Amino acid sequence: MAVADEIPGSISVLVIGAGVHGLSTAWHLASAGERVLVVDKTGVAAGASGIACGVVRNNYFQPAMCELMAACVEVWESDPGTFAYHSDGYIALGPPAQEGDLTEVFERQQEIGYPSELHLGEEAVTAHMRALYPDWRAPGITVCLHEHAGGYAFNRESMFGLADKARAAGAEIATGVEVTGFEFDASGAVKTVETSAGTIEVEQVVVAVGPWIATLWEMLGLEDRIDVRQPDGSVIEDQPMWTYWYLQEGEVQVDPGTFVTADGRGSGVIHLDSDQPLRDDDGRLITEKPWGIYFKPDRSSVQGGASPLRVGHTFTVDPYPTGTVEAGFPDMWSAALSHCLERFAGARQLYRQARSGGVGAFTVDNFPVFDYMRPNVFVAADSNHGYKMIAVGSEIARVLRGEHSTLLRPFAFERFSTGQLHPVSHSPYPWS
Ligand SMILES: Cc1cc2nc3c(=O)[nH]c(=O)nc-3n(C[C@H](O)[C@H](O)[C@H](O)COP(=O)(O)OP(=O)(O)OC[C@H]3O[C@@H](n4cnc5c(N)ncnc54)[C@H](O)[C@@H]3O)c2cc1C
Repeated sequence: MAVADEIPGSISVLVIGAGVHGLSTAWHLASAGERVLVVDKTGVAAGASGIACGVVRNNYFQPAMCELMAACVEVWESDPGTFAYHSDGYIALGPPAQEGDLTEVFERQQEIGYPSELHLGEEAVTAHMRALYPDWRAPGITVCLHEHAGGYAFNRESMFGLADKARAAGAEIATGVEVTGFEFDASGAVKTVETSAGTIEVEQVVVAVGPWIATLWEMLGLEDRIDVRQPDGSVIEDQPMWTYWYLQEGEVQVDPGTFVTADGRGSGVIHLDSDQPLRDDDGRLITEKPWGIYFKPDRSSVQGGASPLRVGHTFTVDPYPTGTVEAGFPDMWSAALSHCLERFAGARQLYRQARSGGVGAFTVDNFPVFDYMRPNVFVAADSNHGYKMIAVGSEIARVLRGEHSTLLRPFAFERFSTGQLHPVSHSPYPWS
């Protein structure tokens, strides 16, 4: 199904958005025998899931995120072919300031049986990295958390694979259909959904619209400013529900055969935060402030990103912005690659402007909201953590079928009124 005049007049579950959360929810609901229709105003992978760098990691300071990610990695590893998934691992590296956080993450991973190893001290970290990458040369790094599960997947292919699974299970996906409004009954439940292709009567609705969430939130009549109770009981009043961050990403064109480990295997993801001065290959100072970078192999390049830009509380998501970076980003990112691995010396000449980078909508505490926001409307607002979160859809499907999800419970909206917020790491970025 693809066009407007084919949509049914009524459906058991209407899923809005054909990104990772909408598609995986539809897959699991349809597999359980539910009648599901996914509508997307553009198409499969048209949003953040089709532009994500594709990093699949567990490195989260928050216990609830850590447990949820372990479940997600299991799904990725269940069908690497269909998900275009590379289980080559993820390595987080940092300066002394990050030793405490990464050690805590490692200890939690051990408790839940997530395969990882920890190296502490510059000598041990350098030895571990040089055994993998003989040309490793980043100085001043004193902690390394090496996750042996996880890795990365190719964004659009994985979403097409997920859509195939949803369709094979019996879900219908209608593209080019935009949701424009809701009609509610006296209890506040949604009775009908207005779309560009007509009105649909619904029993349940799942909203999974990625960075477009503020528009749907407003259509649902939800508040765009809220009070947030802190764990100590105090209340911070009138906080904006959404903040937009622009994720800057780029790539250098290299033969993927050059980004391999000493034993010839494809590299996993490397994520380095550093407090060392960053210089380009000619010795020119790029920055003396702390900086961070992540990178992984792509088909014909090394792809990754660096510090995000905070945009503000309002943003026009259409047309979806991609390929835009600050003027200094190519110099910074290429210099950082070379700072890590000598094989990337001269990377600046190979930098190319690619279809990468984009905007994300973060919640008021930077963690997902996975919850019923109307009696029959479940919202998956992942706060831009979510390409890797491929298991959330199966949990949503369980909740819609009347079961309880212990994995999603910590992401209930009521945490903002109860003060049961997630612990915050020392990372300067909203994604750790
Ligand atoms: C540059 C970048 C890099 C990222 N890298 C990573 C990463 O490496 N690892 C990771 O885990 N996460 C990453 N993320 C975050 C991740 O991409 C998102 O959190 C996740 O993809 C969101 O998925 P979603 O299903 O909620 O939404 P999306 O994938 O954005 O899908 C939403 C869909 O809803 C549709 N839609 C919107 N409004 C309507 C409407 N009114 N009617 C009908 N359809 C509508 C859109 O067309 C879109 O297709 C990255 C994000 C960005 C921007």
